[in-house]
Amino acid sequence: MTTSQAVAIDVRNAVKRYGDFTALKKISLSIKDNEFFTLLGPSGCGKTTLLRMIAGFEDVTEGEIFLYGEEIEDLPPNKRPVNTVFQNYALFPHMTILDNVAFGLEMRGASKSDARTQAGEMLELVQLSQFSTRKPSQLSGGQQQRVALARALAPQPKVLLLDEPLSALDLKLRKAMQLELKHLQRETGITFIFVTHDQEEALTMSDRIAVMSAGEMQQLGAPTDIYERPHNMFVADFIGETNLLEVSVDGIAEGRAVCHLGGGHELTCNALDGINVGSKVHMSIRPERLFMSGEPEKDGSLHGRVKENIFVGTDISTIVELDDGPDFVVRTSNSDRGNKRIFEPGTEMFVNMELGAARLLVD
Ligand code: ATP
Repeated sequence: MTTSQAVAIDVRNAVKRYGDFTALKKISLSIKDNEFFTLLGPSGCGKTTLLRMIAGFEDVTEGEIFLYGEEIEDLPPNKRPVNTVFQNYALFPHMTILDNVAFGLEMRGASKSDARTQAGEMLELVQLSQFSTRKPSQLSGGQQQRVALARALAPQPKVLLLDEPLSALDLKLRKAMQLELKHLQRETGITFIFVTHDQEEALTMSDRIAVMSAGEMQQLGAPTDIYERPHNMFVADFIGETNLLEVSVDGIAEGRAVCHLGGGHELTCNALDGINVGSKVHMSIRPERLFMSGEPEKDGSLHGRVKENIFVGTDISTIVELDDGPDFVVRTSNSDRGNKRIFEPGTEMFVNMELGAARLLVD
């Protein structure tokens, strides 16, 4: 993001109903100019609906949408300075790559030669100049998706909407394209609104993420906020891996809560507004914020036994069964094997936490 804080898109209390069904329930959010913004959530949460409302393909049932200060609900899609890249790139098969990109420009009134010059520049931007005379079928899936991007960027929209544009690509290509998209956004300075159900993709690319579920916004923030400081159960569970525990609050003092996990185990963490002694709440602890030791490290070390080690490439996930308590997953970097000990299944050991690793959640 640049230092510019101008608001590109302002969605105010947007509601979308299909008959009796409410797909979006009063969504409000502001997307900044030049931001890489992601709408993230599971299938059916309403992210495509919101994107289509911004593009003008869906009516807004209630609420308003402003684009750079102008209210746009009544503007037809072709009058909005917005363009969309879809999952199925839908290139014209009989046209060359250059003509595919130039076509939209000519439709918008550019002369043939201007359209071809601009299209050539766009192909350079996505590094496909050498393929400009090929037909789409002569390109790989990733290359075709880059043509679709060049085509959508060519009219220089103020906002580019991207609806799961990478989901048809294999994992390796998808990862390469994620970085390319991020660079492209930086280079062009165009505001990108990206839709995905893939949390890793969202964390990798975005300046900010709106996490959605069942037509509602659950949390909006930078990737590190969303990951490190999930507000509620849904976000903690949907983003990354976590230990979600039901705990009871045994004591509260000076903003800290002592929580009982069962089996006589206790942990201290920051208290939340609205919790009292006796409250039952949920707690989230990321597995990589836990570590194991043969001896107790400090107050709060939890005694248990290793059930299983699961090798996951860069890391090892260890399932630990606390004495009469819940199971924990502890994640140890494979490269840390030397420093942080990995214990064999059946071994008794202690689970310890980095400071601030345990977070209480609003349900
Ligand atoms: P996905 O990742 O599967 O595309 P999504 O989060 O983008 O999911 P939407 O496509 O926005 O979800 O759909 C949100 C909800 O609205 C879904 O429950 C869907 O069934 C419903 N819906 C979408 N379009 C219509 C329609 N034209 N008529 C009725 N219901 C619809």
